[in-house]
Amino acid sequence: MSGSCKYIFVTGGVASSLGKGIISASLAKLLQSRGYSVTIQKFDPYINIDPGTLNPYEHGECFVTDDGAETDLDLGHYERFLNVPTSQANNVTTGLVYQSVINKERKGEYLGKTVQVIPHITDEIKKRILILGQTGRYDVVITEIGGTVGDIESLPFLESVRQLRWDLGQVNTLSIHLTLVPYIAAAGELKTKPTQNSVKSLLALGIQPDVVVCRTEYELGESIKKKVAQFCNLMPNQVIQSIDAASIYEVPMMMKEEKLDEVVLEKLQMPSTPAPDLRVWEEFLQHLNNPSNSVRIALVGKYVELKDAYKSIAEAFIHGSADTQCKVHLSWVHSESLNEGNMHEKLHSFDGILVAPGFGGRGIEGKIETVKYVRENKVPFLGICLGMQVAVVEFARNLLKLDDVHSAELKPEAKNKVIDLMADQLEVKNKGGTMRLGAYTCRLEDDSKVMQAYKRKEISERHRHRYEYNNSYLEQFEMAGLKATGINPESNLVEIVELEDHPWFVGVQFHPEYKSTVANPHPLFIGLIQAAVAHQNASKQKNKVKLKNNK
Ligand code: GLN
Repeated sequence: MSGSCKYIFVTGGVASSLGKGIISASLAKLLQSRGYSVTIQKFDPYINIDPGTLNPYEHGECFVTDDGAETDLDLGHYERFLNVPTSQANNVTTGLVYQSVINKERKGEYLGKTVQVIPHITDEIKKRILILGQTGRYDVVITEIGGTVGDIESLPFLESVRQLRWDLGQVNTLSIHLTLVPYIAAAGELKTKPTQNSVKSLLALGIQPDVVVCRTEYELGESIKKKVAQFCNLMPNQVIQSIDAASIYEVPMMMKEEKLDEVVLEKLQMPSTPAPDLRVWEEFLQHLNNPSNSVRIALVGKYVELKDAYKSIAEAFIHGSADTQCKVHLSWVHSESLNEGNMHEKLHSFDGILVAPGFGGRGIEGKIETVKYVRENKVPFLGICLGMQVAVVEFARNLLKLDDVHSAELKPEAKNKVIDLMADQLEVKNKGGTMRLGAYTCRLEDDSKVMQAYKRKEISERHRHRYEYNNSYLEQFEMAGLKATGINPESNLVEIVELEDHPWFVGVQFHPEYKSTVANPHPLFIGLIQAAVAHQNASKQKNKVKLKNNK
């Protein structure tokens, strides 16, 4: 049924947010470093077709793939760890599964049968679990099941896993269950009961885990491992400790230490290739943990209360930080808290500023004021998507001196819509999956900051937007010093703007953060960090001169 591909299922219990995505990505990294070809997919039990229509407060960032899928943020972790792109097929939700089954039912494809959760929904889930493995491109497909065991909505997924284990056989499938071993401070003890109960819930659904990964604040010790093993029908080496780590990037090393990859290979009867070659990863950690200097960067956005809302941006700074060996202290600044009067007070301590992507008008004037501040004070700036669009609006208002300027998204009746709705969006009624999504080519201008950063004439970056730079203002903008330095060669859409006479002012319509990985830190984040270092040095120099003159 599956060829020679092996399937690993990762489920979670006791609590959510224990890091199934990171454990999956870490295991995949270890197997990949042993020469195996691995991909990871996420199956989410919610009813939305995809997370594209979800508010970031609900579910964190929406990650976008090259082929334009709006996906769970865990796919970002998979790509950052493996440095291999994911696709539409790597993220499946209950909504998507039901949609296909219902569409088939309407077409009459079930030939008069009663359509039921079992077998029709489970068959659709099984089919989608196997799709990537059947391409022949992978030795191992890891499937992470969202939610926790015991949730009503994850039942069809777990039943599909149970059936697949039977269909494909024990040596072709493996179940990993991630649980929590809490520390009860009053008793001074680590407790295994929640793990035992969680494994029992899984057993009640017919799934015997092969590996239990225990998230813990403290070392488990041999006796706790033995206890978990005994109550879960496992050998002690099948109980893996996942202790809280300072950074998610430490987890592959910790899993290697715990021999997670060895247990997995043994259980799946796969050849135990030479130990993982993690030299690039180790070097990355070495650089990350031993910075030679540091900068302060502000992320100005409106979802700052929830760190997951800008996950890929935060991670891209970590990759850039390791590459430049410059620690980035990232501060999240709420754009609603910013206004003309408090710019200096709120922003003067930063060496660089990023204005975040977003939708809608909340906090927009704070973002526009931020752009004015970085432009006038020559602070390094990166504007992403909406961040680029507000930079264009600011320039039109304050330098072109046009009146009634805005983006059509925020003021459709504005006289000067310097950012306008894209023509092919005019007829769009449905919100889900209808933006300009995924990878598009962009051609860079010679002698631009971006050309220096990418060192390439043509790039491909991922998108997620409905509005665009209005080309009827192009000449005015360019004459006044806001250069279009990146253009889509097919549609002429302006993808990048740069300010002349500024050390580093770059606005991009695309999302560079989606393509930054450990192995390939993104040039624009590196560029911003380097510009921030230069800005910091220049400010220090200025202060020294000031001090001297005051003496
Ligand atoms: N809201 C803007 C648009 O749709 C920007 C989108 C974004 O920042 N991702 O064009």
